[in-house]
Amino acid sequence: MASPLSADRMVAALSLEGVHVAEHAGWRTHNRNSKGAWGPVNGILIHHTAGSNSLGIVWSGRSDLPGPLAHTHLAKNGTATMVGNGRANHAGPAAVNAFTAVLNESETHPRPSNASGTVDGNARLYGIEIENLGNGRDPYPAVQYQAAVRWAAAICRAHGWSANSVVGHKETSVEGKVDPSFLMDTFRADVAERLRHSAAWSPGAGTGGGTTTPNPPKKEKDMQLTDQVAVGDWQPRRWPDDKGLKDKRISVETALGSAYGHSRVAHEGVDALRKEVAEVKVQLAEVLAVLKQGRA
Ligand SMILES: [Zn+2]
Repeated sequence: MASPLSADRMVAALSLEGVHVAEHAGWRTHNRNSKGAWGPVNGILIHHTAGSNSLGIVWSGRSDLPGPLAHTHLAKNGTATMVGNGRANHAGPAAVNAFTAVLNESETHPRPSNASGTVDGNARLYGIEIENLGNGRDPYPAVQYQAAVRWAAAICRAHGWSANSVVGHKETSVEGKVDPSFLMDTFRADVAERLRHSAAWSPGAGTGGGTTTPNPPKKEKDMQLTDQVAVGDWQPRRWPDDKGLKDKRISVETALGSAYGHSRVAHEGVDALRKEVAEVKVQLAEVLAVLKQGRA
């Protein structure tokens, strides 16, 4: 249980944590407090916008769901724009079993169960909308993802909460929400790592500072030239004496080098063959002409 942070304390906490904060005009009095409670607060909810250029809609909302739709909008470039101070329309009903795990700062976060009942998530949870299409292909640039980690860590730090107070909308929603499109266990681990350091900590700065690894976007490990790749069954049969093919595996380096060499030899052979065929054609024409003359 905690009283919500004031606008000034929120901005100060975020700035200390290294978040680049922008303030939307009028945000300090922009909320849904006339429609319901705000606080006590117990946790933090992470969302993706499922759209682009969505600052405007997160501020004003839609015809069926008035804004603010979060407390903060997070742009691709890592700028965190404050859009709401107070109750915001972001969480909707939160499953009691999921909310209880947040309340208890449980290390495990169960799948939200409608049967467990619901609580008014908009009264109890801070919310951030991270700009992302949410299709699994739109990347979260490192500067944006790290800003989200800092944002969540700043609020945890201000309240004395652990990273287990941070959940994704998909972890509380009884309406089938799927956001955010990254792994929340990894996100919580990244927030926890920040909380082990001071607010001013930057991952990788200095020595022994540790590093946080953003889970999205994942980078594929490149294939190395020394990696072994499988060759077809027919190859050892075709070349039974080739020691390099006996275990049906070949290094990428050998495969590429061999393919290049063989294709070049084949190319030269075809060129020589073309020349010979052209010469034979000429000779054949001469022979045919002599034969015709003989018959005439
Ligand atoms: Zn959401």
